[in-house]
Amino acid sequence: VNQSFPIKKMLLRNRLLSLNLTSFLSPPSPLPKSASFLFSFNKTIAHSTHKRPESKPDVSASRAAKQPMSERARFAKTVLFVPPGVDPEDVTDEMILPGSNIVVGPYAGHSQIKEVEFVKSSGRAKDCPKDDRPEFAILGRSNVGKSSLINALVRKKKLLLLLRNQVGKTQLINHFLVNKSWYIVDLPGYGFARASDAARTDWSSFTKGYFLNRDTLVAVLLLIDASVPPQRIDLDCANWLGRNNIPMTFVFTKCDKLKASKGKRPDENIRDFQELIRENYKQHPAWIMTSSVTGLGRDELLLHLSQLRNYWDQ
Ligand code: GDP
Repeated sequence: VNQSFPIKKMLLRNRLLSLNLTSFLSPPSPLPKSASFLFSFNKTIAHSTHKRPESKPDVSASRAAKQPMSERARFAKTVLFVPPGVDPEDVTDEMILPGSNIVVGPYAGHSQIKEVEFVKSSGRAKDCPKDDRPEFAILGRSNVGKSSLINALVRKKKLLLLLRNQVGKTQLINHFLVNKSWYIVDLPGYGFARASDAARTDWSSFTKGYFLNRDTLVAVLLLIDASVPPQRIDLDCANWLGRNNIPMTFVFTKCDKLKASKGKRPDENIRDFQELIRENYKQHPAWIMTSSVTGLGRDELLLHLSQLRNYWDQ
C-alpha cells in the first residue's frame, strides 16, 4: 500500500492543469466544448489490460450488468484512462492525476525510485535480459528530452552521462533495473534529421522487433515534445503502436515552456496532437504533462507506472 497516496489525493484536488478536464465529470452534462477533441474514437487500445486479463477482477463488468452506464461514465471511459479495478461510474475528479487524463485506482502503490542499476545494452530484442520482471520502454524523437526525463525520474546524474554516451554512437536497447523489481528501458531515439533512409529502416526493424516480441513489456512511454506543434513522425509512431496493440502512455515533455516567443503553448500543442490521433482510438491512451526542468508530472508519472506494474504483477 502506498503511504503517500492519501496525501496525493489531497494534492490532486483542484490541481488539474489545462484542457479543462476538471469540468468533465461534474454532472449534469452538457459536456464542455474543450473535451470534444477526445470524443468518438473508433479503435480500442487495451492499455495495460492485455496481459493475462482473465486473472483480474473486472469490477466494471459486474456493475455494468446491473445498470446501464450513465452518460458521465461513458464519457469518462472515452476520454480518461480508467485503470483496472475502477468503475467509470465511480470516477471523481480527485482521482485524476493533475496534468493528465489518468485515473488512479487500487493498484497504485509504492512508486518512488530507491535504487537503479544499469544492467545491459542489447543490440537485438532477443539479447535483452531474460526474466519475468515488468518493464516500461521509453521512446521518442531525438532531442525530445528522453535523457532528461529518465534522469529526472531516477535522479541519478551518472545515468544521464551513460545515456548520452551511448545514444548516437550505436543503437542499443538499454535496461535499467529499478528497486530490483522492474525495468526502465531506454530505446534509441528516432527521427534524426540527417539519418539516411537505410538508417531509418534499421531503426524500424530493430525497435519493432523489440515491441512485438517482448512479453514483459507493460507499456511504452511515448515522449512527445509539447513545445512544438505535432510532428508527423510522432503521429506515425503512435499509430503504429496503436495498430499493433502495444499499450502506450503519451508523456508530453518540456511543458514548462509556457511562454514561447512565438507559436502555440504546450497545452495547445497537446490538444492539437490528441485531435490528430483521436480517430484511431475508441478509448484514449493515457497521457501526462511533464517537465524535467520543474519536475512537473514526475511523481504522477511514477504513480501511474506503479499501478500499471502492480496490475501486471498480480
Ligand atoms: P534526448 O535527445 O531525447 O535524450 O533529449 P535531451 O534530454 O538531451 O534534451 C534535449 C534538449 O531539450 C536539451 O537541450 C535539454 O536541456 C532540453 N530539455 C529536455 N527536457 C526539457 C524540459 O523539460 N524543459 C525544457 N525547457 N527543456 C528541456
